[in-house]
Amino acid sequence: MPELPEVEVVRAGLARWVVGREIGSVSVRHPRAIRRFIGGPAQFATALVGRTVLAAARRGKYLWMPLSDGQALLGHLGMSGQLLIATPTTPDGPHLRVVLGFTDAGPDLRFVDQRTFGGLWVESAGDPPDCLPPSLAHIARDPLDPLFEETVFISRLRRRRTEIKRALLDQSLISGVGNIYADEALWRVGLHGGRATSRLSVAKSRELVGAIREVMIEALAQGGTSFDSHYVNVNGDSGYFSRSLNAYGRVDQPCPRCGTPMRREAFMNRSSFSCPDCQPRPRRRLATPRRR
Ligand SMILES: [Zn+2]
Repeated sequence: MPELPEVEVVRAGLARWVVGREIGSVSVRHPRAIRRFIGGPAQFATALVGRTVLAAARRGKYLWMPLSDGQALLGHLGMSGQLLIATPTTPDGPHLRVVLGFTDAGPDLRFVDQRTFGGLWVESAGDPPDCLPPSLAHIARDPLDPLFEETVFISRLRRRRTEIKRALLDQSLISGVGNIYADEALWRVGLHGGRATSRLSVAKSRELVGAIREVMIEALAQGGTSFDSHYVNVNGDSGYFSRSLNAYGRVDQPCPRCGTPMRREAFMNRSSFSCPDCQPRPRRRLATPRRR
């Protein structure tokens, strides 16, 4: 599943390959890919053709491209979505969902999504300078955003009555942290994800934010994580961050810090990976974890 660094790599690719170009054609190959757009494929095309892409922006794992008519094209990669740049003569792959062609006859933008949890849609862009569409307004900034407010985040985190890992995955509190980077950051600071947020000290919270930032910056430098071969960036290259993971996916392998075999625990229909020695389970687990 693409996490923030992967989505940021895609955003940078869109900025390079798509911004400044006028959309000339739209072909929806599978209507599920635009299910969040009410009007269906014909209106989706009408909303895009003739518009110029002004910018490529990101909030958490959502991408959006403000257009020349005050609207914006939004996208979410879901579990397996890819945005690919391809010459118009490239044959369709099996999971091609949407093709945007441009009036300059340069490369197409293709949305490919095997599991179709991702999608594209059009809605009004917000006010400049951010032009943030209304449907993204509830998503918190991510820790790499220059306007991320660490002190505000830490006080909100410590007021929650939930477990740390659940809080990190809550997009209204902090965006862009998925399962993989949550496990990596928690391993770095030696915290078990089941610890109560209300029992975290300010100092430890700061350390945790620092670790999330570090993990994301390292992943960005390496082009994102490529876990399941689904994820490919806008040019079709895979990321390599999976080579340097310390916790995620390393069940029964030695902890890189202390050598203890790593454990896997069930977490929200997924798995959490941690070191039994460096990340002891809390003595008292929260009885009923709540979202807020
Ligand atoms: Zn360890």
